[in-house]
Amino acid sequence: MGFGADLTEALGECADLINTGRVVAGGAGRGESLETLRDVVAFARRHRVENPAAARAGDLARVREFRGRLDAICRSCAAGDQPTAIAGLNALLAEAGAVPRIVSHDGRGPHLHVSRATAPLADRIAAHCAMALAELVVAGQGDRIRTCAAPGCEAVFIDLSRNRSRRYCDSRTCGNRQHVAAYRARRAGRGAIMG
Ligand SMILES: [Zn+2]
Ligand SMILES: [Zn+2]
Repeated sequence: MGFGADLTEALGECADLINTGRVVAGGAGRGESLETLRDVVAFARRHRVENPAAARAGDLARVREFRGRLDAICRSCAAGDQPTAIAGLNALLAEAGAVPRIVSHDGRGPHLHVSRATAPLADRIAAHCAMALAELVVAGQGDRIRTCAAPGCEAVFIDLSRNRSRRYCDSRTCGNRQHVAAYRARRAGRGAIMG
């Protein structure tokens, strides 16, 4: 299965959103990095969500609530529980007011978007993320959603590698940290054997 640029970006946005609520070793995440509405707007800008300035006070609580549900859907996918993931996605798509619309942008061919320009910012973010997960799940690729294998890191990531071999949320931070730890452990083991 090829992952188009649009789906890849949307999945990245979804993982990033979930990780603002998880403990992430390599990043700023201490379990909550969406503390103010300004953080939500900054998140939206980072992911080039249309019209982030439309954010209203209610969007903070709402985006956190949607985030919790996206997180639960990802945990279901990672655990291989597809029926629960699908039920969660259908409920979320309906509540975020997802309406399919065919768009072309950034030189990309026609594809589906489901967020309405007039919907609250939280709903637009949630609909976009839920649609990306839905595409992954209906393609039978839900098992690409994983939790980082590094100790102390709970980051979710989506393994889009060809051989599905990715174990860490970020090879430069968690992956590298684990390689260094393994190297030290090997050296320490050799030292012990050599006396
Ligand atoms: Zn698009
Ligand atoms: Zn990690």
